[in-house]
Amino acid sequence: MDQIIIEENKDKIIKNTEEDEEAEIDNSFIPVYHSFPVKDEDSQVVSAQDYRSILASKDGDFLLSSTGAQVKVSDLESKIVGLYFSANWYPPCTKFTDLLINVYQQLKDHSDPGFEVVFVSSDEDLDAFNTYKSSMPWLAIPFSDLDARRALTQKFDVEGIPTLIILQPNSNKDAAVISDGVELVYRYGVQAFPFTKERLEELKEKEKEKHDNQTLSNLLTYDGRDYLLAHPGPKQVPVTSLMGKTIGLYFSAQWCIPAFKFTPRLMSVYQKIKQQLEGKEDEDFEIVFVSSDRDQVQFVTYFETMPWLAVPYDDPTIKNLAKYFDIRGIPSLVVLGPDGKTVTKQGRSLINLYKGNAYPFTKTRVGILEKQMDEVAKGLPKTEHHSGHRHELTLVPEGHGGGAFICCDCDEQGYGWAYQCLECGYEVHPKCIKPVARSPGS
Ligand SMILES: [Zn+2]
Ligand SMILES: [Zn+2]
Repeated sequence: MDQIIIEENKDKIIKNTEEDEEAEIDNSFIPVYHSFPVKDEDSQVVSAQDYRSILASKDGDFLLSSTGAQVKVSDLESKIVGLYFSANWYPPCTKFTDLLINVYQQLKDHSDPGFEVVFVSSDEDLDAFNTYKSSMPWLAIPFSDLDARRALTQKFDVEGIPTLIILQPNSNKDAAVISDGVELVYRYGVQAFPFTKERLEELKEKEKEKHDNQTLSNLLTYDGRDYLLAHPGPKQVPVTSLMGKTIGLYFSAQWCIPAFKFTPRLMSVYQKIKQQLEGKEDEDFEIVFVSSDRDQVQFVTYFETMPWLAVPYDDPTIKNLAKYFDIRGIPSLVVLGPDGKTVTKQGRSLINLYKGNAYPFTKTRVGILEKQMDEVAKGLPKTEHHSGHRHELTLVPEGHGGGAFICCDCDEQGYGWAYQCLECGYEVHPKCIKPVARSPGS
C-alpha cells in the first residue's frame, strides 16, 4: 500500500452538501464527506504543536509552495494553520477547495496572525496530486512524504475527506484545535477567522440573536421591495399579507431532479392543507418559492406550474435566505410559524412522511405523528423481503441507522422507521416495501 486508501462508500451519507453564497445550490444529498476506514490502533495523544515536527520528518523540513518552491516548515510558526485533507477524485473535495481558495485569498494579506493552509493529499498518484495542487494557492506536503501524511491523519483522527484541521500559533493546548473547519468555512466563510473558540462563540451568539429577532418582513423584504409574486400575472402581493399564517419557504429550481419529483407532491399536499383550512378565519397556510433557477425563463416557466407565491427571480434575498437557513441542498422546505419564527427546516421530510397530516409542522404535531408511526411499526413484520433487493430487510427505528436516510425505492428522504439491509445498508421507507415471497435458501 503506497498511499492512504480510502474505501469507496458512496451509499453512506455522512453529511449533506453544504452551500455558501458563492456556491450554487446543487442537487440534494450529494455526500460531502468521504469516510476513511476505521483505524484499528488507537492514535497517540501528542500535543497540538507537534504537527510541525511531523511535517519536518523524513525528506527534510520543507513544504511545497503553489509554484513548487520549497518553504521551510518553521515559516508556519506564528501563523494560524489549516491542515487540509483532500483528494481531487472526490467532488465534494474539489467543491470545498474552490470555497477555501476564496476565503484564503481574502485572508492572505492578514499579517497578524497570518493564515496558511497545508494540503495533505489523499490523491491516487503523483500526477493527480500535481494537477490538484496546481489549483491551490497554498502549501502542500510533498506527495512522496507518505509517512507525514499518514502520521497527520492519525494524529488528528481524520476519518474522512474533506477535512480542515485548524491550529492556533503558540498554543500547545489540544483544546485549541478545531477539527470541523470544513463546516465552519461553509457556514461562516471568512467571518470564521481567526477560528478561535471565542470567535466561534461570538458568531453563534450573533446568529442566535438574528434568529430570535426573526420576522417575516426582515426575512422576505429587501431594500424597498415589500411584495412577493403571485398568479396570475404575476401580480404583486404585500409581504404583510402573510403575517399570522404558517409559511413554507420552498427552496427549489427547475434544473434540480429531486425537485422535479418533489414539487408535484408538495403541490398536492398544499391543496389538501388549503382545503382543510377552508373557512377558518384565524389560520392559513402559504408557500413561497425561493428559486435558484439559472435564468429568468426557467424561473418563470417553473413558477407558472406552482399554485403559490414566489420571491422575484435573482432577488438578493434568495442568497441571504439560503445562507441564513443553512440550506445545504434543494429541494428544501423551511416552515415558519404564524409569529414569523422558524418551526422546522425538515419540511421536506415531514411532507414525505406524513403528507398533509404534517401541518402545522410543529414539534407537538410531529410528536403525535411519531407516536402514531411507532404504533404502526409495532404491527409491521420485523423482517421483509423487498422486490427491489436481494437480501432480507430488517425493520429499524431511528438511531439504528434509521435516522435520516434516502429511500432506495422512491429516492426521497426518510426519517425514523426504515427497513434496512444489515448487510449492505440498503434502506427503504416502510411504505415503499414491495413484499415478495422468498423461500429460504433461494
Ligand atoms: Zn420510499
Ligand atoms: Zn443488501
